[in-house]
Amino acid sequence: LSDRLSSVFKKFSGQKRLTEENVQEGLREVRLALLEADVNFKVVKQFIDRVRDKCLGQDVLKGLNPAQQVIKIVNDEMIELLGGETTGLDLRGQQPYVIMMVGLQGSGKTTSTGKLANHLRKSKMRPYLAPADVYRPAAIDQLKTLAAQLDLPVYDSTVQMNPVDIARNAVAAAREQQCNVVILDTAGRLHIDETLMQELVAIKEAVAPQEILFVADAMTGQDAVTVADAFNNALDITGVVLTKMDGDARGGAALSIKTVTGKSVKFVGMGEKLSDLEVFHPDRIASRILGMGDVLTLIEKAQTTIKEEEAEELGRKMQRAEFDFEDFRTQMRRMRKLGSLESIMKLIPGMGALREKLGDMQVPEKEMVRIEAIINSMTRQERRQPILMNTSRKERIARGAGTTVKEVDKLLSNFEGMRQMMKQVMGGGKKKKGKMPQL
Ligand code: GDP
Ligand code: MG
Repeated sequence: LSDRLSSVFKKFSGQKRLTEENVQEGLREVRLALLEADVNFKVVKQFIDRVRDKCLGQDVLKGLNPAQQVIKIVNDEMIELLGGETTGLDLRGQQPYVIMMVGLQGSGKTTSTGKLANHLRKSKMRPYLAPADVYRPAAIDQLKTLAAQLDLPVYDSTVQMNPVDIARNAVAAAREQQCNVVILDTAGRLHIDETLMQELVAIKEAVAPQEILFVADAMTGQDAVTVADAFNNALDITGVVLTKMDGDARGGAALSIKTVTGKSVKFVGMGEKLSDLEVFHPDRIASRILGMGDVLTLIEKAQTTIKEEEAEELGRKMQRAEFDFEDFRTQMRRMRKLGSLESIMKLIPGMGALREKLGDMQVPEKEMVRIEAIINSMTRQERRQPILMNTSRKERIARGAGTTVKEVDKLLSNFEGMRQMMKQVMGGGKKKKGKMPQL
């Protein structure tokens, strides 16, 4: 999904503004990308409609180019699609709380039961495990083994017992042992089946769980969504655990579940180990799906750090080679805040091309400090009009900055080189080769 989307965004980046036409065309690609990622078609349609409305209705954010704007809108909508805010467990009422794990066979219920116990224990809860899958002989042992690994109490179920009794007895045992949360692992089937549903409903009625978590294998894509819907209709689930997100799951399930069931994903399984459980953060998953975490961070930073008009003004100055040491110093200081020259370059409209020309221009921190010292020693007038520079001024500046005239010269000539290159690349009219201003 990521690859596909980034190529869409690349297409946008050549364009000056968002128009109905280029938005339509770009969104066609986004739509295909989502369908390919196995996102439910109804969800895709809803999603695209909303993104389109926003793209066309929005005041153009001056600091961002069309590609960045579309990315931002797609990202915002994707977070919305994934459920907006992070929703944790809602454990209230009488203790011990009960969390019931449900889902198809092999989806990862038992593993997630162990992971969740591990997670809850870290937040000072005292979990009690209850194996209620009496159909697969190994299932009970599997959870008992996990409990032993975690050094947590577990109900001593056997395959002869009735799952409803197990649930009830386990809650009583947990209360006796002062445990405040029971995690109930239930049986699954290969397919949705009426008998199983009835059994789960009976368990639900017997122990009134605070949470009923549907465990879904993310690799099964759309199927996971259909199954989630069925479990939700029968049990009114309270949330979803999406497992195997460490595999090459295409993300489709994550994107559709909330819309189809109305229930949020609360946790994601990221591996087979007991520690491989993460609280689900819609914003993080969205950037992971978009594969553009960096870009998004920059956009956020741009919005807070660079004022839109200022960025435009800077662009104009560069075009006319009017970029002076004052501007340079401002950018340099800002660069420190943002981390690197690279990140600044990305933020200024039209700087992409310049960046390619300059290559990987990493200025070490020490060098930056020295450069800033030299610039600080200039008078305001000198910073505005480097052309004023003469030998006595250079000597004064070198002394002030604790450096040599040679270093000052070097900075001046590098600066002028940069200024000319900016002018050329930013398309500032005719190239006046050979006629460099005197420094
Ligand atoms: P259950 O039948 O629903 O109880 O499923 P299990 O908990 O027994 O898990 C089935 C298989 O999936 C096991 O081999 C687990 O190790 C594996 N599994 C569960 N969750 C994850 C996960 O998040 N990532 C990976 N890679 N494997 C998982
Ligand atoms: Mg199991």
